[in-house]
Amino acid sequence: MTQTSATPDLFDIVILGGGSGGYATALRASGLGLTVALIEAEKVGGTCLHKGCIPTKALLHAAEVADVTRESEEFGVHATFNGIDMTKVNAYKDQVIGKLYKGLQGLVHHHGITYVEGWGTLVAQDAVQVNGQIYRGRNVVLASGSYARSLPGLEIGGRVMTSDQALQMDWIPSSAIVLGGGVIGVEFASVWKSFGVDVTIVEGLPHLVPNEDESLCKALERAFRKRKINFKLGARFSGVQQNDSGVVVSLEDGSTLSADVLLVAVGRGPATANLGYEAQGIPMERGFVLANERLHTGVGNIYAVGDIVPGLQLAHRGFQQGIFVAEEIAGLNPPAIVESGIPRVTYCEPEVASVGLTEKQAREKFGTEHVTVSEVNLAANGKSGILKTAGFIKLVRQTDGPIVGVHMIGARLGEQIGEAQLMVNWEAYPDDVASLVHAHPTQNEAIGEAALALAGKPLHAHN
Ligand SMILES: Cc1cc2nc3c(=O)[nH]c(=O)nc-3n(C[C@H](O)[C@H](O)[C@H](O)COP(=O)(O)OP(=O)(O)OC[C@H]3O[C@@H](n4cnc5c(N)ncnc54)[C@H](O)[C@@H]3O)c2cc1C
Repeated sequence: MTQTSATPDLFDIVILGGGSGGYATALRASGLGLTVALIEAEKVGGTCLHKGCIPTKALLHAAEVADVTRESEEFGVHATFNGIDMTKVNAYKDQVIGKLYKGLQGLVHHHGITYVEGWGTLVAQDAVQVNGQIYRGRNVVLASGSYARSLPGLEIGGRVMTSDQALQMDWIPSSAIVLGGGVIGVEFASVWKSFGVDVTIVEGLPHLVPNEDESLCKALERAFRKRKINFKLGARFSGVQQNDSGVVVSLEDGSTLSADVLLVAVGRGPATANLGYEAQGIPMERGFVLANERLHTGVGNIYAVGDIVPGLQLAHRGFQQGIFVAEEIAGLNPPAIVESGIPRVTYCEPEVASVGLTEKQAREKFGTEHVTVSEVNLAANGKSGILKTAGFIKLVRQTDGPIVGVHMIGARLGEQIGEAQLMVNWEAYPDDVASLVHAHPTQNEAIGEAALALAGKPLHAHN
């Protein structure tokens, strides 16, 4: 991508990093008439577009197609599953990314953003240096993102990989160990199982997706057991050895596991080392940039967005923070982002989606007797039956107050997070939702059913 011709001496905003957080800042700011320099070392779109959200969801869709083909007889359709062609799967995935990348490049260009290719370093409170040139800004936004973490002594290479390498694989292992049962780990486990891989997840905590409501964790574990995805919970990694034919992973309990590959999915660290942040006095903790609720670092006019700011490492949080910072700089005084209202979706099969407080968090916050819960099983939902998916939707309510949490599990339920997040963020009462008409037959109706139940008038339920 080429840089726009006229480079001002002083930009309104200089942005370091063109991922979800950085490019959202740039687009919104230029839309508000501000001059913007967007500095990116690799490709605009960052982790989400090139190594994260989009490629993994393309693989998950290919995985769904494989499962549907295998199960086609159940629907009266004759189809034969003849295997996975990874070259073609990757071509499909790369085509999706390529189209979005091109569109994003066009957007950046048409917004008149000065796009600078290269590795930037913060050299003053108002300046970033790239390839020997200084880009000065009335405001600077740090958006350098995150990298796949490993564990001390666990070296990435060969058959030991992170999501970065796993997304580039042009072959399918016959077996895989996934270290980490969080979002990225369970998504890869789900894809690989559908591609015919014998998968074992090793998770140190007592549950898969351990940050979710415990009911979702248990339901996902049941579903994975049914899919014959193996997992070891409360199991701590102690070492790995690899040779030409595979890996042997040792656990602290003395047991070992063998497989073709090991995927290390133990979380993501902030990409902030050697960028000049500390030298400029940016407050940092464990590599993360500390910012207040206005996303200001407390130093000069320097803001921070995205994965470098402690909190949920999600693309849509980065987008929202980018929009917020652009509006803040433009003087629009936007309302602060409510972190607890950020929706979370794990796109494995079945999908897990949630927003707001878990039941446990709600009971801790309001007192255990001041929380009411309603759970609607998808067994009574027509569309879920058509899709042959199992699961449930659980609403958590402050007794006589608003809905404070929504927790869902089932095929495609990630698509239902929209209404769920409006309910929580607009502090809807069950009666508000119960009076809205939910289209039939949709899985969305199950949210309506759960609200009807909480409002004391369940419809498709045995009283
Ligand atoms: C496998 C995987 C799956 C994911 N799935 C999802 C999902 O389904 N939904 C979701 O919401 N989130 C998902 N995420 C998380 C999401 O990708 C991140 O939250 C998001 O990309 C963070 O945006 P960011 O702008 O903070 O950082 P990034 O996207 O990491 O962007 C930072 C950019 O800064 C650039 N950069 C860094 N340092 C410099 C420098 N010194 N000079 C110039 N450029 C620099 C980098 O090249 C990069 O392009 C996933 C992540 C992974 C790894």
